[in-house]
Amino acid sequence: MYAVRLWSVRRARFWEAFYRRFERAGLAAAPLLRRIGLDRLERPTAALERGVKGLLFDCRMCGACILSHTGMSCPMNCPKQMRNGPCGGVRPDGHCEVRPEMRCVWVQAWEGSRRMAEGQRILELQPPLDRTREGSSSWLRVLREKAPVSPRAP
Ligand code: SF4
Repeated sequence: MYAVRLWSVRRARFWEAFYRRFERAGLAAAPLLRRIGLDRLERPTAALERGVKGLLFDCRMCGACILSHTGMSCPMNCPKQMRNGPCGGVRPDGHCEVRPEMRCVWVQAWEGSRRMAEGQRILELQPPLDRTREGSSSWLRVLREKAPVSPRAP
């Protein structure tokens, strides 16, 4: 929902701190989650993530979340799905050239990033999006990438 998305960006600092704790808790639980099986957890986790982030950020489940780099403004809400800054069509009032009723997600991203402790991350270059990940859980992806694998884990 658009109004909630704007509200979330205004609270980017809160969400940044929340996500940091959430990630820490996830990594701490990683041995147990790996024992259950990350593949087995994929569907319920993705469904939960879709519900929560859909409500708060209008998440499109790209599978490679970069909210922590974009001031908590989801770049997939850009009609052109720009992931490295705005196109050249931002209107003088900061609205989108394709959907004039909507603020440019990258104007939002910049404003959100100014509220964050690690707001400079917005300057990092994002790789091309791997479309094969669409619909998958970014939460579990972080776990897969960051949590150490014990020798007996699946
Ligand atoms: S960047 Fe991807 S995973 Fe993150 S909120 Fe946007 S669509 Fe969802």
